Amino acid sequence: MNFAHFAHAELQNVQNAQNPQKFGKENFTLFDDIKSALDMPTVARGYGLKINRSGMAICPFHAEKTPSAKIYPDGFHCFGCGVHADVIGFTQRLFGLPRPIDAAKKLNEDFYLHLDLGGHKSVNEVSEYRRRQRERQEYERWENKVWNTLRGYLQTMYDWREIAPRSPDDEPDPRFAYALGQAGYAEYLCEVFIAADENGRKAMRAEVERVAGFLGGLTAD
Ligand SMILES: [Zn+2]
Repeated sequence: MNFAHFAHAELQNVQNAQNPQKFGKENFTLFDDIKSALDMPTVARGYGLKINRSGMAICPFHAEKTPSAKIYPDGFHCFGCGVHADVIGFTQRLFGLPRPIDAAKKLNEDFYLHLDLGGHKSVNEVSEYRRRQRERQEYERWENKVWNTLRGYLQTMYDWREIAPRSPDDEPDPRFAYALGQAGYAEYLCEVFIAADENGRKAMRAEVERVAGFLGGLTAD
């Protein structure tokens, strides 16, 4: 009898029902790595089962005196209580672990497999990571643009302050008059921006857009 054939469908149902969203392709690949590295007798013996000459052991999942659990190369089946599982399901059940991935991690540690489990992220984790990365890049681009706007505003005010009237009788240039009032405010905006954290900078959005509109109007002239 081939254990894999009769157990496969049911195992998959059990695993999917336990944690449907965690079952991306990556996890199946990781589980395959574990299963090809560890056969069932190795795991069963490693966790204390005594396998007799006919490949039977006392079942750890129900109380019994004579062995009714058969240890196949690729799985465990108890003819007494009906439990069947591969090395991952067996380990998960034996230690009462919440998820198959926890059993995979335990096997990886207990049998020194040195598989890189951290590299096997679920599809959800990967797309969540990419989404956060995209958000970060967008924010950093925005932050950069804002800083250039504020610096441009400050520089413009400094430049305009230089257009001072030559004599008391000269009519002041309107830009000079404007800069006298606004240079201090431009400095203030730059200082606030430098001191602010991310939320503080985001809160400046409306004011920065007003400044950007003002500077945009200048270059359009
Ligand atoms: Zn049993």
